[in-house]
Amino acid sequence: MPELPDLVYLEKRLNEYLPEQKITAVEMQEPIVLRMLLPGVFAESLRGAQFRSVKRHGPFLTFALSGEKELVIHPMLAGRFHWNEIGAKLPAGCALSLECEESGRAFHYSDDKKMGKIYLTKSGDYKKIPRFNEQGPDLLSKDFTLDYFKAQLKKSRKQVRVLIMDQSVVSCIGNAYADETLFAAGIHPKTFCYQLVEEEIAKLYHAIIKVMQWGIAEVERAARPIEVKVREHVRVRNRRDQPCPQCGAKIRRAGVLGYDAFFCPTCQPLKRNQFIDWRNLKEGAQ
Ligand SMILES: [Zn+2]
Repeated sequence: MPELPDLVYLEKRLNEYLPEQKITAVEMQEPIVLRMLLPGVFAESLRGAQFRSVKRHGPFLTFALSGEKELVIHPMLAGRFHWNEIGAKLPAGCALSLECEESGRAFHYSDDKKMGKIYLTKSGDYKKIPRFNEQGPDLLSKDFTLDYFKAQLKKSRKQVRVLIMDQSVVSCIGNAYADETLFAAGIHPKTFCYQLVEEEIAKLYHAIIKVMQWGIAEVERAARPIEVKVREHVRVRNRRDQPCPQCGAKIRRAGVLGYDAFFCPTCQPLKRNQFIDWRNLKEGAQ
């Protein structure tokens, strides 16, 4: 689940819960998601350690610990975080539980798909963590400029949706916010980078930032427990056959390089003739 707005929210909440908490017990329900990058045993290395600050790095959350250690979690598609009372029922798909006895609570990481990873490393040492150091500029940072983005688009032969989801280009946009961004920019998900004119590139660039800031504000406003996925605000994602909030046309779904993309055929017209023109199809003909 976690996309950038979710991770921004998690970072904030976890920084309220975890710093100064001492880990008193460690349980590893799914060792398959764990990667030990230190000499020693995972559980023993964590027991007795104290949480410091939590930081987001692209799609990763890093948890600084006492003793020069760091826990790095890459939740991928299905990872969730929990801060529950000790003794409460374990979350479904629970992979790791860190009890902090003094607070009476436990920090859990759950992952139904077991695609995410938890690394324990020396603090600041990320070189063995796949994709950590390969993240492109964070889209919320000053490094993500229009000139940089233009240059990336100009040298790409990919479809726009594929490019903006490439974390080495911009960090980081997942499926939900890719759809929302393209909708805001009025760009069909099958458009190729070379088909965009200057004006559209600028529109897309600003949409990336604006849509993500909107997502962050919506997730913050919902103020749910950290394990809850907040998606009620999305305008096109997973809204197939529902009316477009801008024009009322039915939202469509299309496959883009193996991923489902949701879009409005009227607000996001296709640029090329060789693809199906959704607007000319009878309703429900897809
Ligand atoms: Zn529309």
